[in-house]
Amino acid sequence: MSAGADTAAAGDLPALDRLLGDAAIAGLIERHGRTPVVAALRAELDRLRTRARAGTLRRDAIAAAAIAAAIGEVLERTAAPRMRAVFNLTGTVLHTNLGRALLPAVAVEAAARAAAEPVDLEFDLATGRRGDRDAAVAALVCELTGAEAATVVNNNAAAVLLLLNTLAARREVIVSRGELVEIGGAFRIPDVMRSAGVRLVEVGTTNRTHRHDYAAAIGPRSALLMKVHASNYAITGFTASVPETELVDLAHAHALPLAVDLGSGSLVDLSRWGLPREPTVRETLAAGADLVAFSADKLLGGPQAGIVAGRRDLIARLDRNPLKRALRTGKSTLAALEAVLALYRAPERLAEQLPTLQLLTRAPQAIAEQAARVLPAVQAALGPDYAADAAAMLSQIGSGALPVDRLPSHGLQIRPARRGAASVTRLEARLRALPRPVLGRIADKALWLDLRCLAERDEADFVAQWMQLTP
Ligand SMILES: *Cc1c(COP(=O)(O)O)cnc(C)c1O
Repeated sequence: MSAGADTAAAGDLPALDRLLGDAAIAGLIERHGRTPVVAALRAELDRLRTRARAGTLRRDAIAAAAIAAAIGEVLERTAAPRMRAVFNLTGTVLHTNLGRALLPAVAVEAAARAAAEPVDLEFDLATGRRGDRDAAVAALVCELTGAEAATVVNNNAAAVLLLLNTLAARREVIVSRGELVEIGGAFRIPDVMRSAGVRLVEVGTTNRTHRHDYAAAIGPRSALLMKVHASNYAITGFTASVPETELVDLAHAHALPLAVDLGSGSLVDLSRWGLPREPTVRETLAAGADLVAFSADKLLGGPQAGIVAGRRDLIARLDRNPLKRALRTGKSTLAALEAVLALYRAPERLAEQLPTLQLLTRAPQAIAEQAARVLPAVQAALGPDYAADAAAMLSQIGSGALPVDRLPSHGLQIRPARRGAASVTRLEARLRALPRPVLGRIADKALWLDLRCLAERDEADFVAQWMQLTP
């Protein structure tokens, strides 16, 4: 096939070596490095060759500048990090899929320092000997909760696994049927028990479990009584459960420890900020629980980690289990966690200093004012196909904390402007394609954007990027 005046043949394609000498390509090498640029050029030349053979390659597509532009875009896309910052307007503050708690600047700085500099992670500066990586965090946990000792692992699932495997492997753990919960992301209490090599003994019924149910299940193979905070659902109506203090008496009468998986594990009484009450770690220990396991990145507002706090002899056994070595946390996590815990020394300042609490306690009035401020730009960007309104809505805490309680909030509610207009599912996808994706939720045929988690410092960027909404 002969090439026309406008079309190029395969033989017309520039050689790779010549392209590498081109100024625009040199700029790409400067930016991305030689290896990815050469690979992208080879792929682009292959693509152009195929088109040349088909007779569909235009001459202007084989100019070095055109080739540089084509691969520049691909290289840029490949180089962009896969993990991106998003706007969490889902209405769920501690959203597991969006990374849960946001760290305060002091914790981010501490984590970055630990990542970039040598630190005394397992080195005791006082004695010059080997130290314990959990020491700083454990000391703070003890100070803040009244625990004798504490240990830190990767997350609360790991904390529960370590606890069960250490104290109850090949023996029995007694749990109420109503507490055999699935937390989400495949964390199910019965499965964790199996992985820990523990035999689960279920007692009571889904809605009611009594002291005598536990008592009847205690036998020679019993290792532990366990109470699990029913994080993400609530049992209401005709219900009964045994309070911790009573379980403590029963467990201790049989020389068994009582362990509590507290889930969110708040360190302070949230009702002081008008938030719903959640049992604190200190209260649970004071009630007599021998060990309490909880997450660091839920209500506590720290990095992803799991903490077990309680009796010194039991914590020492957890620390000696080889599993602890496999589940231990990294230095940046420990540095961030230490910084967050230190803020709890002055609880009266927490609502300003801890982003999670800041978001949970944001005044509905301030959120309403923000909704009114951003509404005109949003409506202008949406055009006539959609109608946006400022509306009252309810946020939730998320991550299984206080599943029933809702926090009054405000935001934007967007609907198709008329019958047959583009759908809100289509709009939801367009918002996900923005440079900083905007994530809302669809309910009642509307897209809801809860503004509780739109930081005021991000508001201008948020408004500006609506102009980039693609059709
Ligand atoms: C959230 C939760 C877990 C799991 O904690 P992670 O930190 O996500 O591993 C375990 N138990 C309860 C009761 C929880 O609420």
